[in-house]
Amino acid sequence: MIKTSEIKSFKKLTLKQIRVRVKKIKELLPSNAKNVITYSKNFTLSLSNYCVNQCGYCFYNYKIPKLNGEGNVILLGNEQMVTLIEKGLKYNCKEALLMSGERPDNFLDVKKELEKRGCLNFIEFVKQICTYLLDFKILPHINLGFLTYDEMKDLKIYCASMGLMLESTSMELFKKGKVHEYSPGKLPKKRLEHINNAGKLKIPFTTGLLIGIGQTIEDIIKDLYLIKSIHNEYGHIQEVIIQNFVKKENIPFQPKKPITIEEMLKITGIARVIFENEIAIQVPPNLILGFEKEFIDMGIDDFGGISPITLDYINPENKWPQIDNLNKICETKGYKLKERLPIYNKYIQKSDYCPENIKKIIDNINY
Ligand code: SF4
Repeated sequence: MIKTSEIKSFKKLTLKQIRVRVKKIKELLPSNAKNVITYSKNFTLSLSNYCVNQCGYCFYNYKIPKLNGEGNVILLGNEQMVTLIEKGLKYNCKEALLMSGERPDNFLDVKKELEKRGCLNFIEFVKQICTYLLDFKILPHINLGFLTYDEMKDLKIYCASMGLMLESTSMELFKKGKVHEYSPGKLPKKRLEHINNAGKLKIPFTTGLLIGIGQTIEDIIKDLYLIKSIHNEYGHIQEVIIQNFVKKENIPFQPKKPITIEEMLKITGIARVIFENEIAIQVPPNLILGFEKEFIDMGIDDFGGISPITLDYINPENKWPQIDNLNKICETKGYKLKERLPIYNKYIQKSDYCPENIKKIIDNINY
């Protein structure tokens, strides 16, 4: 556990001091990894936005009225899925992000749809879709909220990687009027159980923090240490997303003082200092538009999934950047923007992390 004095010294660091420390850490990388930023060309299959939680900052949940009169997804339709896969193939996407609310099959509407489609439960439905995607050499990355150990074990051979944001372990956020008041699935105990289970099962894993939802900088630094300690135990965390909450209408959480870019830069740099070169750091490029170079200086390695087809369903007003433009920005900093798969290269090689059926498909993908 991190000492209070260490947290204080991190807090005192200026952006300039952090940049110097980040630079020294980056210099330790092998030359072929030093000046590379990665991204994954993907599209999203939003399977169901029915969710047992109601996070104050969530725009995705079925209860929140959507922009442009878009309806809610009880269960992604076959036709819609086929259309998206066809488009994904046309644009040469290698990854499909499968996302949903947490435990959608707790809802009768979803259960009925599953029955109609001949699925015993939501996990069976996910497995069917993954099988279909893999037939087209598209690698699924799944993020479905909290899953049990057995569910993750069952799903391992159907996807290239999995993810779940830790978001924040601050218990303050569960108090009356705070963002997690109605979100039992966000209890730190559950999130940590999921992330630890992924480690036990040797699943290449993405997690991250959602910044600006009411937690303190001390909470954030503690959470970064926590992620590092879990990774030290299992070695399965391939990347950590440092994601800023972006203000939206129609949702309960309306902070008076949204998180600033300076705060985001500081947190990203501190994350690099804590993770050293062990874990990749991603910032979503559509949420930090215009500040990409500053984030590169803070040691990011990755811009995450960028889709030529689908929206960011969490932040639909923040459009994905053009890959060409992002590449130009990277080049001005002396970096190369390189495509990656949803499973990081080192985990394809690492014993027991990449199931044989997935490895075979990867062998036939050009990227
Ligand atoms: S768990 Fe996810 S989908 Fe559900 S309300 Fe929270 S942020 Fe939204």
